[in-house]
Amino acid sequence: MYQWDVIVVGGGPAGLHTAERLAEAGFAVLVLDNRLSIGAGKVCTGIIGVEAFRRWDLPQATVVTEIQTIRFVGPNDTRFVYRHPSVLAYAVRRDRLDEALARRATDRGAIVRSGHRVQTLHVGPAGVILEGYRLPDRAPFREQARLLVLATGVNFRFHRRLGLGRPLDFLRAAQAHVPVRQSLDCTTCYIGRSVASGAFAWAVPVYPDTVRAGLMAEAPIKPLFRRFLERYGPTWNLDPSRSVPVDYKPIAQGWRGPITAGRVVAVGEAAGQVKTTTGGGIYYGMVGAEVAAEVIAECLRRDAWSRADLVPYERRVWQILGPEIQAGYALRKMFARLNDRQVERLLRFIQRDGILDLVQARAHFDWHLNLLKSVLQFPWVRHLLGLPGS
Ligand SMILES: Cc1cc2nc3c(=O)[nH]c(=O)nc-3n(C[C@H](O)[C@H](O)[C@H](O)COP(=O)(O)OP(=O)(O)OC[C@H]3O[C@@H](n4cnc5c(N)ncnc54)[C@H](O)[C@@H]3O)c2cc1C
Repeated sequence: MYQWDVIVVGGGPAGLHTAERLAEAGFAVLVLDNRLSIGAGKVCTGIIGVEAFRRWDLPQATVVTEIQTIRFVGPNDTRFVYRHPSVLAYAVRRDRLDEALARRATDRGAIVRSGHRVQTLHVGPAGVILEGYRLPDRAPFREQARLLVLATGVNFRFHRRLGLGRPLDFLRAAQAHVPVRQSLDCTTCYIGRSVASGAFAWAVPVYPDTVRAGLMAEAPIKPLFRRFLERYGPTWNLDPSRSVPVDYKPIAQGWRGPITAGRVVAVGEAAGQVKTTTGGGIYYGMVGAEVAAEVIAECLRRDAWSRADLVPYERRVWQILGPEIQAGYALRKMFARLNDRQVERLLRFIQRDGILDLVQARAHFDWHLNLLKSVLQFPWVRHLLGLPGS
């Protein structure tokens, strides 16, 4: 008899939420995360839509700012300000969010161990054996469970050997906490091929003296981010006397292949559950966790472990997230083909033709398909994107 029903590798929102749900259902759950403390040093802007806060009653104590107004800035400085009728999203402190999710999991009975790096996995007919070492002393550990949940974020080192799929591709991303003399008035989003080819950059005023600035792109990220800070830093009153350390991390985009294997389930970014429009992965990862926990609980009760037993998770989660992930990916790829002149035209057009009214009526922070479908009805949008029927 194994000590654990489930071991979750990875203590981010997806892994911790899965652990909470399974522990609540009465199963013995262990979470192993390699960071010295849960949530420490995560490269993430921490923007989460209001729906996630309501759906999971996320703690307001993690919030550093509300987002209701967003300024869009084009490559040649065309700009407009969009104000949503109500708060759209919050920016949180990621360390505090992950700590809070870990507390919830432990309150339900899960054991969460930080500083535990998993090095090898053996999946056999009788269960799963994990080996690794503790940080910082590198003392080895070995644990066994009936089922493994891989919630390793953007680390895919175990996937191929376990027979799991991979993201279609990756965006490169950078983020910095930029010290400023006086912060921005609202969250600002910068678009254009010369600024952030294939995606966008952002600046979120998180504290009176700090802007959380980030950029994701299909091109080499370091020179793009340096140029971004040089060009826009002065507009945020960047304090030139203080240095700006930058963190880099890829973001998974799309998915090809299974997210389950016998006795193994992947959730969160480790299963491609990331918005392909904005790169946000917290909400979709928690949605994935919820579906995974339901199916895993059923398998644990029936003691049934084959891929066929776990595959309902794949089907259900793909029904919910798949259309958004696929359409967002295709649209972002089309957007990536626009040159700066076309992006400027797009920004100018958006302010005409009632598009902003449509956005106000249909915009949702996490579900974009409805709005995308409506916007694609406009002949000039189709023309700009090179779609038939323009
Ligand atoms: C610059 C940037 C900005 C972003 N901004 C946002 C945003 O504003 N909003 C949003 O929703 N998303 C954002 N994201 C994406 C978001 O951070 C991720 O999608 C999200 O963290 C994924 O959650 P997860 O639980 O799947 O994985 P993670 O949160 O990445 O957690 C995985 C954990 O597994 C651990 N781990 C990995 N391998 C092992 C191992 N072998 N042994 C033990 N532990 C292991 C990792 O250390 C990590 O703690 C951003 C990403 C980047 C790069």
